[in-house]
Amino acid sequence: MTAGHRTTHEVLNQAPPFCGHDTYSQDPWLRAALARAGVQGMEAAFTEMGRFVGSAEAQHHAALANRYTPELKTHDRYGNRLDEVEYHPSYHVLMRRAIGAGLHSLAWKRQEAPFSARAGLCYLWNQLEQGTSCPVTMTFASIPMFEQAPDIAGAWRRKVLADAYDPRLGRVESKPGVTIGMAMTEKQGGSDLRAVQTAATRDGSAWRLNGHKWFCSAPMSDAFFTLARVPEGVTCFFVPRTLADGSRNAIYLQRLKEKVGNRSNASSEIEYHDTSAWLVGEPGRGIPTLINMAHHTRFDIVVAVAGMMRAALNEALHHARHRSAFGKRLVEQPVMANVLADLALEAEGAMLLAFRLAAAFDASAHDERERELQRVLTPIAKYWLCKRLTPVAAEAMECLGGNGYVEESPLARLYREAPLNGIWEGSANVICLDALRALSRSAEAFAAIAAEAALARDARIDRRIAWAGRCLADPATAATGARSIVEALALGMQAALMKRHSDPSAAEAFCVSRLDSSDAGRALGTLEGDAASLGAIAARARLPAG
Ligand SMILES: Cc1cc2nc3c(=O)[nH]c(=O)nc-3n(C[C@H](O)[C@H](O)[C@H](O)COP(=O)(O)OP(=O)(O)OC[C@H]3O[C@@H](n4cnc5c(N)ncnc54)[C@H](O)[C@@H]3O)c2cc1C
Repeated sequence: MTAGHRTTHEVLNQAPPFCGHDTYSQDPWLRAALARAGVQGMEAAFTEMGRFVGSAEAQHHAALANRYTPELKTHDRYGNRLDEVEYHPSYHVLMRRAIGAGLHSLAWKRQEAPFSARAGLCYLWNQLEQGTSCPVTMTFASIPMFEQAPDIAGAWRRKVLADAYDPRLGRVESKPGVTIGMAMTEKQGGSDLRAVQTAATRDGSAWRLNGHKWFCSAPMSDAFFTLARVPEGVTCFFVPRTLADGSRNAIYLQRLKEKVGNRSNASSEIEYHDTSAWLVGEPGRGIPTLINMAHHTRFDIVVAVAGMMRAALNEALHHARHRSAFGKRLVEQPVMANVLADLALEAEGAMLLAFRLAAAFDASAHDERERELQRVLTPIAKYWLCKRLTPVAAEAMECLGGNGYVEESPLARLYREAPLNGIWEGSANVICLDALRALSRSAEAFAAIAAEAALARDARIDRRIAWAGRCLADPATAATGARSIVEALALGMQAALMKRHSDPSAAEAFCVSRLDSSDAGRALGTLEGDAASLGAIAARARLPAG
């Protein structure tokens, strides 16, 4: 004991810090998924990201960025309006890293398996921090929007793809890189965007907006896609924060939301007063125009949630391997083995679904069936993985006992973050209705799901998919049973992917517990099976370093 450093006891039976590992190289699930997708030439980038995510340094930045939350500066010291948000330096470190790695741009630059390659990076990133994922994903999803706005796209598109993070506000030409946000939700309606009241009036070649937005995340973004009303109906506009002459556009930040989670990211309430804006797409077609952006952010949420489940599982496995109770390591206690095995099935099923969706995005340009699959699987996967994340995060937290429920544990942050994914970018009911719309609009969409599920050659999966098909055929059943139908399709897809790509005993446990067991309980950790087989499922999921 050193002088002045007195302790009353020796610290025993605590897990060592879970850091210093490589979340890419040590994760055989992820490596296999990327190999299946045909992602090549990314080894160095994935390894670099995997090491950063697993490092104590990155975890420290993530903790600081979320503890010291963004502050709104409405005015400067002389009383002039500023409308800026000040972030903790760690937030900028993380943003610089994410943007520098092309987390937002890779899918638009690569030729081979572009969405899968980017999904690999995003899956890793979301094992670290989610506040930064919000501006990253909106910036990623801005590229299809620029295709609908060729007059604006020029410098903006180039600067999005430049992989340079510059947090200062300024003219687009003066900045090495830019980030883009989206401002749609108003007080009277978020899901139902037909309720938008912000008004747009023509002013020469531009427009003036007057109104408000009730949620506008990442308000220090360089520009926003937004919605406003013209005589033809709700219309999409592009609103830069800095105008061509270098002056600030009239975007007034009213307040920052005090959020349950996602705390490193600022989410604001804003007002437009004669704000300069440029038309995107056709007047009156704002919602279909912006849906393209939302479709890509929904895809990102699927990948993010799969990564978050992996992070939760890793923490639980690590703790259970190092902590002992009642004479055995937790991982050797049969009930805990059951819980860990169930968490592993959930995380692997999520990962497989996310990367299958990424592959469908990759193939969409040249394969009609994959395009159908991508369209319909995005809301299906978004609904189901978001619904599963909160119980997974809570159960993983409980595996750590009291250590899980304190702010020093990354699980506290992950737990608070979990429900948000189900709310934004389409809340559960809205997402299920969207999936049903896609299924009813095109018989090929259901056929694409059924064909994919049939590849597993398992009668239990076929039965579940056929049941969903019958429900869909009856509009009254479909209207009230939307969630059950979407869940059945998601589970059918996950089970088929598990059968084809996972270990046979894990795949069988997934099918028994999720498709055909009437005896299983509703909580996680109620799988059938003996301690040895459940322990093997959990052991297979563990990162070697954990
Ligand atoms: C942290 C955070 C950040 C956000 N950032 C942004 C942002 O940057 N930009 C932006 O534009 N928005 C943002 N939002 C807003 C978000 O997209 C909306 O909150 C979301 O779309 C839901 O809209 P709402 O809050 O108006 O709820 P409502 O639309 O009122 O929905 C309430 C509930 O009703 C359900 N519901 C709605 N319609 C139906 C129906 N037809 N049938 C059955 N149930 C239905 C919904 O599923 C939901 O459960 C953010 C939200 C949060 C929490």
